Amino acid sequence: MTAPLATAPAAARSTVSEKPSLIGLSREGIGAELERIGVERKQIRMRTAQLWNWMYARGVTDFADMLNVSKDMRSTLESAFTLKRPEIVAEQVSEDGTRKWLMRFPARGAGRPVEIETVYIPEIGRGTLCVSSQVGCTLTCSFCHTGTQKLVRNLTAEEIVGQILVARDRLGDFPDATTPVGAAVPSEGRLVSNIVMMGMGEPLYNFDNVKEALLIASDGEGLSLSKRRITLSTSGVVPMIPRAGEEIGSMLAISLHAVRDDLRDLLVPLNKKYPIKELLDACRNYPGLSNARRITFEYVMLKDVNDSPADARELVRLLKGIPAKINLIPFNPWPGVNYQCSDWETIETFSDIVNRAGYASPIRTPRGRDILAACGQLKSESERMRARERLALEAMMAGDADE
Ligand code: SAH
Ligand code: SF4
Repeated sequence: MTAPLATAPAAARSTVSEKPSLIGLSREGIGAELERIGVERKQIRMRTAQLWNWMYARGVTDFADMLNVSKDMRSTLESAFTLKRPEIVAEQVSEDGTRKWLMRFPARGAGRPVEIETVYIPEIGRGTLCVSSQVGCTLTCSFCHTGTQKLVRNLTAEEIVGQILVARDRLGDFPDATTPVGAAVPSEGRLVSNIVMMGMGEPLYNFDNVKEALLIASDGEGLSLSKRRITLSTSGVVPMIPRAGEEIGSMLAISLHAVRDDLRDLLVPLNKKYPIKELLDACRNYPGLSNARRITFEYVMLKDVNDSPADARELVRLLKGIPAKINLIPFNPWPGVNYQCSDWETIETFSDIVNRAGYASPIRTPRGRDILAACGQLKSESERMRARERLALEAMMAGDADE
């Protein structure tokens, strides 16, 4: 059953706020902004550290709440900057606790406001947030609904971090105002404990913004999520994989989906540019790869397409020598698509073969079905997001790449 928690009050059409936001900026970026408004040079480091802590460890949205910042400085900041969150157009909570937010981001340049969905999936002892990197996608994977949509635009670092902040706000996952100023804020025991870049878009085609955002997410004085609990999923943008490892250092998930180039060319057309061998070589060389930091290979189960026992055996052969786990994702059909999800028995047979070869390949029951079914109640502009978001859920339900 769908239980809408809240719907944001009708807001004026979003436009870029006149005041720049400090959210999503690196420390250097905040420093430069402070300098621009005339903050004394010798104060910049200290002010940046204070702001960083209030914004990310404490989650405040109002400069007036920054109690260890002088009153004058608070009003200077207030007149120059904003810490505004994205507008929440709708919020839904599933009977199993899965939550979904439809968020609207302002127009940038000549564009229009855009909407994306972010999903939170609670589990025992942890909770995973599925975050988007782009609106639409330039790639055209034949089984993916997002792939039928043109890229509208990249999300900014502010908008990517904003998805995490909204989730923490709404879940009550920031310390409350009674926490004394300067008190240590524990990074453990949070409701949002894991992030997967498995929402809309190809994160490695929006590298700089995704990097900036994930470095804030993993910053020990920022959102404090361990890099082992952040997973970046890519369809296989080979040249960017080493940079992702070196500069972001998160866990890596690869949307493999096929074990032969002829088939992968059809399912993930980017394969024509970066075929399986090149992709797997990049994986073998992924910085920091070890048995403790394995790569997740996502494999969508398409009936009579890629789901035979021979495919499973070939998968095992291909991955030999790569510390890996395998996510078997039941295919999520969408209107007009020609693929079907493999039968449950077929998925189990496939999983057994992979398991016997020593790879974890859990298949979990999908969650949040009820609110996904109710997606039609959201704004029609979000049409393209629905299938995208369903599939992301399924990807996670099949076991995402964290411990
Ligand atoms: N663009 C990136 C990340 C977003 S997609 C990527 O392709 O990896 C997240 C995962 O969902 C990918 O593995 C993607 O292939 C998979 N997926 C896409 N459409 C799906 C569908 N209809 N059913 C199941 N999984 C799907
Ligand atoms: Fe883009 Fe990923 Fe969908 Fe392919 S699977 S079209 S890369 S979002």
